[in-house]
Amino acid sequence: MSVSYKYKKMKGKIHMRAVPVAAILASCFMLGVVLSGGCSSRGGWTASELDIISSVIPGTDSLGTSILRVLTIADPDDSLVLRTPCADFTPSMLQSPEFEALSSLMLATVQDPSEDGVGIAGPQVGISRRIVAVQRFDKPGEPFEVYPNIRISGVNLGKDPALLPGGVPDLNAAMEPGPEGCLSVPGRRGNVLRYRDIDIQYTLIPAMRDTTERIQGFTAVIFQHECDHLDGVLYIDKVIPGSLQERD
Ligand SMILES: [Zn+2]
Repeated sequence: MSVSYKYKKMKGKIHMRAVPVAAILASCFMLGVVLSGGCSSRGGWTASELDIISSVIPGTDSLGTSILRVLTIADPDDSLVLRTPCADFTPSMLQSPEFEALSSLMLATVQDPSEDGVGIAGPQVGISRRIVAVQRFDKPGEPFEVYPNIRISGVNLGKDPALLPGGVPDLNAAMEPGPEGCLSVPGRRGNVLRYRDIDIQYTLIPAMRDTTERIQGFTAVIFQHECDHLDGVLYIDKVIPGSLQERD
């Protein structure tokens, strides 16, 4: 997901963080050692996934950091990947050097200073696995973090939710509109209805156990946008009619 410069400025924070170059290089070196072992796939990774993780674009952003190519809807082949539902990682994949390399590269890619990225999902870099890198605006320092095997596991409606006839909670009433953009849909933005209070479920590393966490506010919007990607859904599928426009 991306936000405009204006929107970030409105929030009072412009983010130009140093990227952990050493960590990326170390991970890539480890990956190179692994790949040189001659296996076309290992530990559950497909040959295609290994190719992507090892085929970083060296020094392509203004900080000279290696990043992954971001797929866009402008390319028919990219679109097929963006529309493909994702699979979970196996435990052995999560504990592999390839996962470390992928995480570091996704963190670098979403923080590419030439973009306004606040979140990115596996399919956007060609990896059809349930992984997102999200900026946690709800944490001190607003760090970017990686979440594997993630899904939205619940919606919190508050103490006095709106009710439909029959006393059923009105989920739609718990949604609010807000502006969204996407690194895979360049040059456009539009308003989307999202929940502002959700639960997420993901796998904790290195503990290797699933956990749930409550997320609120703008960070909850980012998680919903990125988790949609994992189901092959783009924000333009949900945009409020008439709100889609060119980004300034
Ligand atoms: Zn997106």
